[in-house]
Amino acid sequence: MVQLKSPREIEIMAVGGKILAATHQEMKRTIRAGLSTAELDRVAEEFIRSHTGATPSFKGLYGFPASICASINEEIVHGIPSPKRVLRDGDIISVDIGVHFGGFHTDSAWTYAVGDVDATTKSLLEVTEESLEAGIAEAKPGNHVGDIGAAVEARVRRGGFAVVRDLVGHGVGQSMHEEPQVPNHGKPKRGPKLNVGLTLAIEPMVNAGTAETRTLSDKWTVVTLDGKRSAHFEHTVAVTESGPRVLTR
Ligand code: MG
Ligand code: MG
Repeated sequence: MVQLKSPREIEIMAVGGKILAATHQEMKRTIRAGLSTAELDRVAEEFIRSHTGATPSFKGLYGFPASICASINEEIVHGIPSPKRVLRDGDIISVDIGVHFGGFHTDSAWTYAVGDVDATTKSLLEVTEESLEAGIAEAKPGNHVGDIGAAVEARVRRGGFAVVRDLVGHGVGQSMHEEPQVPNHGKPKRGPKLNVGLTLAIEPMVNAGTAETRTLSDKWTVVTLDGKRSAHFEHTVAVTESGPRVLTR
């Protein structure tokens, strides 16, 4: 069932979203070669909990053991932070974070470059971020979920990369994952209609090579089948009368 939020509920989500945006700023300040993903997880958890009433959504969600998902290079999503995973110059790391505040979740991911990255990786990051913005622009009343996916996919194709189809965006609110699903591909005017009060996590996952994925034996980490790199950018967005409102900017 699709859960529409009242203007008051969206304001609460905006407060949580602001904490989440600040947590990403903290990640940006912290990420450097030599840092382990377990350390990064600790920084994120402490930063979130330093805001009264805010807790990390992911910790314990479906049994996930950490506060962030930290996915390096060919890892697409759901990487488990570990003291053994140490960032190196030239890596990219997707940090996916959820914040629970005032009874509502917000969800946002960003892919960061560690030091200097190669030209293809730079382009992958740019195209994926731009595909997120293209998708967000379609999150307005009267449009359909398919308009978002079509816009994301068009930008990614133009960039010469591949959209992951095995994983999708989602409604977000009182639960981390609500209906509808928000694929990163689709046809305009298809799929569920976007009504005022809908809050969505729009999250293109884009691969440098094949779109195909596999899951590692840890049962969490999803990687590219060909071992090439993947990027992930995500915002929580409210559909309002005046158009899309990004709650995690
Ligand atoms: Mg996320
Ligand atoms: Mg999400």
